[in-house]
Amino acid sequence: MQGKKILVVEDNEDTREILLYRLQSMGDYQVMLASNGREALEMATKSRPDLVIMDLKMPVMDGWEATKALRDTPWGKDLPVIALTAQAMERDEEKALSAGCSDYIAKPIMDYAVLKRKIERFLR
Ligand SMILES: [Mg+2]
Repeated sequence: MQGKKILVVEDNEDTREILLYRLQSMGDYQVMLASNGREALEMATKSRPDLVIMDLKMPVMDGWEATKALRDTPWGKDLPVIALTAQAMERDEEKALSAGCSDYIAKPIMDYAVLKRKIERFLR
């Protein structure tokens, strides 16, 4: 059986690669990578991921704007979007939820078991 598709949207290459590696070791996931919101929207339109992990601060199009744009599509309105928030930015979480993100996790991710549980809760 083909694994669920997870789209990782993150402008930092190291973080993107770590997430790719971690997600692949979590389960049978098909991981796609985008480096900004615009790329993410194009990829999501074509490939219809089952879940998105979305950095908020990115060039070209940030995660807030990209999430709002996803929510405006018929296929993206209920798509699980987990925001990557910056620990130092206290209002990030609130802003993520008000932009329509389903959940969030603070960066740097210290405990990948937490991310795994969040993903499994949405993809179950
Ligand atoms: Mg960033």
